[in-house]
Amino acid sequence: MAIRVPPKLIITLPYTVRFMKPSPTLLTTVLPLSLAENIIKKPVTPKSDDHYDQLLDLNDTNKLFSSVSTTKLFRSLINLNMASFEPLVDFGIWIMKSSLMETMIIRDVILKTVKHTFYEHFCAGENLNEARRTLQALWDDGLKGILDYGLEDAVNNESCDRNLNEFLKTVESTKLLPQSSVSYACVKITAICPISLLNRVSNLLRWEKKDPSFNLPWKVHTLPIFSKSSPFYHTLKRPDPLTPQEQNDLEKAHQRLIKLSEKCFVMDLPLLVDAEYTMVQPAIDYFTYSAMLRFNKNGKAIVYGTVQAYLRDSKERVIQAAEAAEKMGVTIGFKLVRGAYLSTETKVASSLGYASPIHGSIEETHACYDECASFMLEKVHKGTGAVCLATHNLESGRGAATKARALGIGKGDDQLQFAQLKGMAEGLSFGLRNAGFQVSKYLPYGPVDMVIPYLLRRAEENRGMLSASTLDRQLMRKEIKRRLTDRGEGFETRH
Ligand SMILES: Cc1cc2nc3c(=O)[nH]c(=O)nc-3n(C[C@H](O)[C@H](O)[C@H](O)COP(=O)(O)OP(=O)(O)OC[C@H]3O[C@@H](n4cnc5c(N)ncnc54)[C@H](O)[C@@H]3O)c2cc1C
Repeated sequence: MAIRVPPKLIITLPYTVRFMKPSPTLLTTVLPLSLAENIIKKPVTPKSDDHYDQLLDLNDTNKLFSSVSTTKLFRSLINLNMASFEPLVDFGIWIMKSSLMETMIIRDVILKTVKHTFYEHFCAGENLNEARRTLQALWDDGLKGILDYGLEDAVNNESCDRNLNEFLKTVESTKLLPQSSVSYACVKITAICPISLLNRVSNLLRWEKKDPSFNLPWKVHTLPIFSKSSPFYHTLKRPDPLTPQEQNDLEKAHQRLIKLSEKCFVMDLPLLVDAEYTMVQPAIDYFTYSAMLRFNKNGKAIVYGTVQAYLRDSKERVIQAAEAAEKMGVTIGFKLVRGAYLSTETKVASSLGYASPIHGSIEETHACYDECASFMLEKVHKGTGAVCLATHNLESGRGAATKARALGIGKGDDQLQFAQLKGMAEGLSFGLRNAGFQVSKYLPYGPVDMVIPYLLRRAEENRGMLSASTLDRQLMRKEIKRRLTDRGEGFETRH
């Protein structure tokens, strides 16, 4: 989930900074898929004390925040309160977009203010050294990290090569950290292959699916990319074949991913490939699957694709790809997310006169997420798959943890990991950690002025979600109060 510099960042990075929303689908994670389908139609109102169960114990805030200093708790609470205060977010967005930013002194003051508030809360640092320090602190808290440097979308081979070097540098730098403190490397294919080419390749792959006699001479082995219900409306007429130049560029892009995967393979560091919007996702899956076939062997996944459960065809695609991989002796790896390009997808589909590829209701998305998670946990249990459950959703986290425990997926099994963004869903992260699971924080890093528009965009898009950070704030308040009033055990020992 790489971040990018403005202005493209604003268009192409709509996800992150989303807070926990209750999913009514806890049950679906522990039921067979077909049975779950019947149940999800009926929304279930979550019980008010749902989060106080034994496996994922959020009730004991002393235990939950045992590794967090009181100062840090205070700061987090203040930042989360500010982020949920809509007039303040509106004011911040207005200032950042105003000409006031052109005045040096004002700009400096604003950047400093943001740096010591939202930036500090949601980002890992301005450079690799700072990011490494953040990661080390997380590791001391029993959490892992996923480092992500803000990179531009690539427009040509030069920018692709530059970006590849940055990715390689980030991976290399993790050698200086305790080995298991870094859970994954991550990459955006849009940073190592020009978008225009991803678009062309996606069109060609879609057309080949519609007309199997359509020949793609450059195509290498891959797993199934489409299902029957995948959207094909982006490609309404037969695309021209790739020109020799395009084929050459495609080969170069492919080699970039192979080089990065090879580096990760040698360092035994799995690589998460981010998902984007459906217009270019077929080409991204094509690249990802071909790398999986090469590196995901002997029960170990090095390359992970990303599946967006908000897409109607996602469950079918997960099942098809996993089953094809299993037959080929390839270990399938998926990062599972809900998906972040909701409005782009809906706009594109409606501009072409088609229905949105996204589930009609949030409940269906929740159900689909939990079903895909359940399916992948079975694969982990069987030793044929690996999954990174990237979510802030408490119910999805708890459902998956319950199922993993029931399957006997153990503490040491790194084929199952959970991931949240830095500064978000802390209660869930610590709760899962305390329950014995491996949990990572996603750590965007880069210069403040580069990351600020990213932060504001997150705040703007997710203001409803931000104000719904109630659970984290409630837990933090409870723990601060406990430490301040409890004179005995606890408060004095914390720094
Ligand atoms: C570590 C990590 C990596 C990520 N990588 C990617 C990535 O590669 N690609 C990507 O696209 N996203 C990525 N995301 C973002 C992710 O897709 C979500 O946007 C974000 O995590 C919020 O979802 P949630 O599971 O946390 O659930 P919740 O907090 O429950 O959020 C649910 C949100 O889903 C949205 N939604 C989904 N379906 C519907 C629907 N049918 N109707 C209405 N609203 C709907 C709404 O915005 C809703 O608020 C990543 C997130 C994390 C934490």
